[in-house]
Amino acid sequence: MTTSTAAQPAYSTGTAATTAATDPALTRAWSVLEAVPDPEIPVVSIRELGILRDVRRAADGALEVVITPTYSGCPAMSQIAEDIGRALEAAQLTPYRVATVLAPAWTTDWITAAAREKLRVYGIAPPTGTCGAGAHAAPQEKVLRFVPRALPAPSCPRCGSAHTERLAQFGSTACKALYRCLDCREPFDYFKPY
Ligand SMILES: [Zn+2]
Repeated sequence: MTTSTAAQPAYSTGTAATTAATDPALTRAWSVLEAVPDPEIPVVSIRELGILRDVRRAADGALEVVITPTYSGCPAMSQIAEDIGRALEAAQLTPYRVATVLAPAWTTDWITAAAREKLRVYGIAPPTGTCGAGAHAAPQEKVLRFVPRALPAPSCPRCGSAHTERLAQFGSTACKALYRCLDCREPFDYFKPY
């Protein structure tokens, strides 16, 4: 995306269809929010995890930040909303509001390739495979989500061995399962695909 050089007032109101191309404040908000880390896995940002969905201008002129939790009831969401608020206030991008959108539901498919590599280096096995079709489907098509059963076991994020076993369905958070490498013996979190 190219950056617009048009001399638009930062807080023009009245145009519902304002986009980042014509609204420098939106472009700034995106770059500020791209630096907000995930509170549970600080090596990746909320943008890279796909939690940050949109930044737009509401009809009343406020910035509206749209986030989708990694699973419903994710306890980190209030922390994420606070972090977003702090980042926007530090950049003097006010007023703003944070909107939580549950549909379409978040999926591990939204985690960027760069973030998957950062997770692995951090010691968390990234999700294997994808959830396939439906990741970007309309909300009503996502009510019933098929959970793939025959996914391969994750490789050890430390030594790369495929020789791993699951110790527990839930790891440090409900998003993750606890695995152990049978070669280097290290336990590790696995970011479960869903
Ligand atoms: Zn290993």
